[in-house]
Amino acid sequence: MQYRRVGASGLKISAISLGLWHNFGDVDVLSRQREIIHTAFDHGITYFDLANNYGPPAGSAEINFGRILREDLAQYRDEMVISSKAGYYMWPGPYGEWGSKKNIIASCDQSLTRMGLDYVDIFYHHRPDPDTPLGETAQALDQLVRQGKALYIGISNYNAAQTRAITKIFKQLKTPFIVNQVRYNMLDRWVEDDGLLDTLSELNKGMVAFSPLAQGRLTDRYLHGIPTDSRANRSSSPFLDQEKVAPTVKIAAQLNELAQQRGQSLAEMALAWNLKNQVVASVIVGASRPSQLQDNLKALGNLDFSRYEIEQIEQILK
Ligand code: NDP
Repeated sequence: MQYRRVGASGLKISAISLGLWHNFGDVDVLSRQREIIHTAFDHGITYFDLANNYGPPAGSAEINFGRILREDLAQYRDEMVISSKAGYYMWPGPYGEWGSKKNIIASCDQSLTRMGLDYVDIFYHHRPDPDTPLGETAQALDQLVRQGKALYIGISNYNAAQTRAITKIFKQLKTPFIVNQVRYNMLDRWVEDDGLLDTLSELNKGMVAFSPLAQGRLTDRYLHGIPTDSRANRSSSPFLDQEKVAPTVKIAAQLNELAQQRGQSLAEMALAWNLKNQVVASVIVGASRPSQLQDNLKALGNLDFSRYEIEQIEQILK
């Protein structure tokens, strides 16, 4: 494993980390969840990424993770970086989502209870709230740190302008704000167009990339049809379906050929492509089985790209 510093902070996290958005709910087999988490930790993954609403049902991923932690890994708590988030819909009424202080403080308390933790290492605001004053959201996150419920603060899905604005407030409050978590992969490069990568670099903040494999589309998963046990075919994962997969299969096949020339799987190359950027502290991958994680970890064997390979990738993505 390689460990990368998050921005200019003192915190280093594993360059490949494990996300529990899918595959860790009550709809998933607990013994498989256990295997995936053990495989991750045994291979040096230290960063485990959660949120209040991961499941389904919402909250169950935190409960299942907390159980595995308590039963198997409690003695290794200090070797792990565990995060959670608030901001997306979690409970009914006006306080169950977005960025009010009322939501953030309550949601963090709920997450700690579900996971059985005294504190999380990183607590994120999950999405910008157009209606709550930014200062209120920042102050709520700052309070979590002062109360010892979070060591570091992150934001997620904030664009460059929003990142600049909240960074200014965190600076005044002296909040240990270190990272923005955003979608970044070969098929979705909004962070480049928006200038977010450059902004984070300039502000000395880190980025962690979610869905670096485009939910499986940047792997060999869909090259020969839609497997019955794949995310695109599961009703419990409504964010990927066959219609979203179809337009990217041809691109994935071409990228797969290039990956093979590099001696990598497409998944490995997709992660390496992401990690070649130094502002990316970690790529958060999902996995429905340990073997996927083992494949993904091999990406670290070759993070270098020749100019020819980069040009080829750009050509294919055009
Ligand atoms: P990925 O892009 O890594 O997709 C993971 C899926 O890809 C797996 O479930 C599996 O699909 C497939 N896969 C993974 N590795 C391989 C492999 N080697 N070969 C073949 N298929 C493979 O990430 P996710 O979309 O799962 O997101 C990762 C994490 O990012 C989340 O768990 C969460 O922590 C975070 N996230 C944060 C968001 C935010 O708003 N902040 C939003 C979304 C995610 P299959 O199930 O079909 O086997």
